[in-house]
Formats: sequence, C-alpha cells, structure tokens
Amino acid sequence: MTKYIFVTGGVTSSLGKGIISASLAKLLQERGFTVTIQKLDPYINVDPGTLNPYEHGECYVTEDGAETDLDLGHYERFLNIPTSQANNVTTGRIYQTVIEKERRGDFLGKTVQVIPHITDEIKQRIQLISKENKYEIIITEIGGTVGDIESLPYLEAIRQLRWDLGEHNSLVIHLTLIPYLSAAKELKTKPTQHSVKELQKAGIQPDILVCRTEHTISDDIRKKLALFCNVSKKDVMEAIDAPTIYDVPVLMQKEKLDKRVLKKLSLRLGKDPKLVQWKQFLQKLKCPKKTVTIGLVGKYNELQDAYKSIYESFIHSGAVNECKVKVIPLHSGDISKKNIAKKLKGLSGILVAPGFGERGIKGKLIAIQYVREKNIPFFGICLGMQCAVVEYAKNVLKIKNAASAEVHPKTPHPVIDLMQKQKKIINLGGTMRLGAFKCHILPQTKSQNIYKKNAISERHRHRYEFNNKYLNTFSASHLKPVGINPESELVEIVEHTQHPWFIGVQFHPELKSTVENPHPLFVSFVKACLDYQARKK
Ligand code: GLN
Repeated sequence: MTKYIFVTGGVTSSLGKGIISASLAKLLQERGFTVTIQKLDPYINVDPGTLNPYEHGECYVTEDGAETDLDLGHYERFLNIPTSQANNVTTGRIYQTVIEKERRGDFLGKTVQVIPHITDEIKQRIQLISKENKYEIIITEIGGTVGDIESLPYLEAIRQLRWDLGEHNSLVIHLTLIPYLSAAKELKTKPTQHSVKELQKAGIQPDILVCRTEHTISDDIRKKLALFCNVSKKDVMEAIDAPTIYDVPVLMQKEKLDKRVLKKLSLRLGKDPKLVQWKQFLQKLKCPKKTVTIGLVGKYNELQDAYKSIYESFIHSGAVNECKVKVIPLHSGDISKKNIAKKLKGLSGILVAPGFGERGIKGKLIAIQYVREKNIPFFGICLGMQCAVVEYAKNVLKIKNAASAEVHPKTPHPVIDLMQKQKKIINLGGTMRLGAFKCHILPQTKSQNIYKKNAISERHRHRYEFNNKYLNTFSASHLKPVGINPESELVEIVEHTQHPWFIGVQFHPELKSTVENPHPLFVSFVKACLDYQARKK
C-alpha cells in the first residue's frame, strides 16, 4: 500500500517546501524506497504555461509535455527520475475537470459544490500516481501558505483523505518559519504557534514541524514548540539556512527527518543513506579549483527563478569541471553595437536564453554576432538557437531581411517560421510543441562527440522552428543543421564548424540536467569556456 506524506507551509511563502520535499525524498530513495513528489498549486490557471516568468519563475516541462511549476525541476534534479503531468495539479485544472463533468451531465440532479465535488477531485488527483503501482511513498506538497483562502479545499481534502487512508499510512509535515528579532536577539515561536493553530482549525494536526531559521534553534525552543504545537520534541526539526540547496538532504539527515517519517509510517528503516555520489558532487561544488565567468543573455534577468534550470545546470556542470561558474545576467534590451565589447569584457562565453516575443531580440543578435566573430563560446537555447540562425542568415549568408516570423511576421525570408501544425492554433494555453522528442545527430559532428551517441531525446517548448526551405543553404555553410527529428525532420541542433564552440539547440537541455547526470552539453560548454579563458591568458 502506498504511504502519503503531505507537506504544508506556514507563516510565509518561499520557505522552500519544494527543497525540503525533494531532500526528504532523496533520503528515502537512498534508503531503498521508491518515491515521487507531487505539487498541488492553489491558483486558477490551468497550468503555469500561460504565466509570465516574472510572476512565477520558469515553466518546467516534463517528458510527457506538461507545463508545470518549477519545483518539479527540483524534484527531478534531486531524485534523478522523471515527473509527469500527474505530478503537478492546479486549482484551475481541478475546477476545469469538475465543470467538464457537470457539463457532461455526470452529476445530473446534484448541486455541484466545493465539498464533496472539488475535494473529491483533489483526493483523486493525489491518489492518481499510486495507480501506476510504481511508488511506495508519495510526497504531496501543498502550494501556498496555510491560512490562505485558496488553500482551504486542499486542507479539507487532506483531512478527509487521512481518515480514508487510516493510521500509519499518511503524515503531515508543516514547514514553518522561526524569525529572529535582532533587536531582542531572540528567535520567535509565536508565528509558528499561530500557523499550527490555523492548520488545526482545518482539522489537521501536523506530525512533524520543520523550522526554517537563520540561527540554530535551542533545546528550549524545541521544547516550547512541542508543547504549544502538540508534537513530540523529536519531531521538531531545524532547517537552518544553507549555503546551497544541495546541502539540505545532508542537513535533514542530521535532523533524522527520514527516520522519524519512516517510524511514523510504520515502514522499515532500510539502509542508512550514504549519499556517496551526492557528497562527491557537494565536495566538488564547495572546493572549486578555478572560476569561469559566463554571460546569460536574456530578458527576464531581474528574477533568477525565470532561468532556474539553466542556473542549476551550470552548478551541476561546474562541479564536473571542478570549477565555479559565475553567471552574469545580461539584459538583452541593454545591449547595443556600441557597448557590446564592454558588456562582454571578462566573460569566457555566453548563453542566449529561451524567450518569447520581439522585445530584446536586437541585443541578442548583436551579442551572437560578436561572440561568433571573436571565437567566444556560444550556447543558444530555443530562442537562443533561433537568434543564431537569424544572425548567421543576415550577416554571413547575406539574406536581406532574414528574420524569425515571430519577430517580423511579414518578412520575405522567415528562416525561423511558425510550425505548420501551429498555424491553425488559436488558444495559447498548452498548445506549443511540448515534451520529449527524438533527435538524430549526424556523425562526426561536435554534438555527436559531446553526447557520445547518435540518437537522443530532449524536451521542447516552442511554436517556431528552423525553416527547412533554407536547409540546403545552411548545410552548405559553416552553421550546419546537425541534429534532426527523425519523424518531423525539424532541425533540433545547429553547430558552427569553424568555431571553437558555437551550438544552438531548439530543445531545452537544462530541463534534463540532474546532480547525478549533469547535461553533457552544459558540461562541454563550461569546459569550452575554461579553454577560452586559458587561451586568453
Ligand atoms: N519564442 C520561440 C518559439 O516559440 C522560442 C521559445 C523558447 O525559447 N522556449 O519558438
């Protein structure tokens, strides 16, 4: 029988429920359990695909093409197993399903209500993953903060489900904040007491408290929390601020979070987590032998979360290369022909980020031309690859007015054009080319050498594509299409044959980089940047 762990958040948002969930899952996985994590988001968007990255950070895409919350990226990076559509559910999707059922007549005669119809749908979604019979433990993270109006149906669903599941089959971990008042030089427990009361009002008694804090919590504080919040002192865990999110599994192991969880769920303890590979990675991450500085050219740079997976991929690939990757965000809107040399001074490579729309394109093209001509390593992802194709068409192939149809819909030379299948699509939500697609890499190319194989599969999220009308022209040039989808013949990779490292990919390699499997393209790109840095000295 599958066991369920629910993770709620109290006091404030952004406490890192995703990281705590992923860390616990990692420890349980190391102990020999099959675990997955699911996130329930209380907003009304059906998925985060239509949300501006400024609002909600990056949209993470799963193998099966679901547009999901960026926390799923953490789950995959920590657990090294893919997630799917079932791992992320929003209030919007719950209501959409219930309303569709109502329109079909499934509830004929009944008044459709939050309880039981919405709560039933939530309960079903929580249990959906267990139907695959793949997991012994499912961790369900409830987005938002206890006390929010939006969270109420979720808490009610958990309250009911805990009864249905019976004793020792589920538990609730409440992640909370213990603020430090510097004037009083004291850690304060009151906000946590209130947030636990709020949970209790919803009929839920947390089993374990995980306390985010800037300072070590004393025994007295643990005792006090235990007394006021109805938990045993052993179940008050400290989650102290860590230098990196990758420290958290080790910190949680010290607090014995995994052991307490297993005891409460009446599960075997399994073998003690050694985290061998994980600790090797941490060691390399913390003691880099050198530093390399790379520019990230994008337009959502104000918010690091907008490019979360790219930043994390640089952390993984930096560790492989035993170097610290310093990522410098460069706002494409601020780049001009005049200032480009100054902007890229001291950088050993640039990555041109994914994106949508016309804003910031000019700056990206200027940056690409500069690094192409100066032999500085270049990595283009999705829009970044499309810009590399446009730049080359304009400046090298001298195709006048070459452009992406996304930027200039009336261009006579759409070297990047809307995909045929996209032409009739009107709705914007969930309609892009999404999820994993196969790609064949031509032999004797840099890309094949990097992947060490000919057939790969990578994840996508885009509407525009390399226009195959220009395939022959490009194949005869130095910017060659070298990765092709075997079914649709869409171009997935281009590389410059006369440049030390100039690769553009239509897919998103950053979505598949994990601690245990850093993405080969990122590893190779960082290496190329180190080589460039060494050559320049
Ligand atoms: N806007 C481009 C497209 O839709 C690129 C998308 C992306 O970078 N994810 O094709």
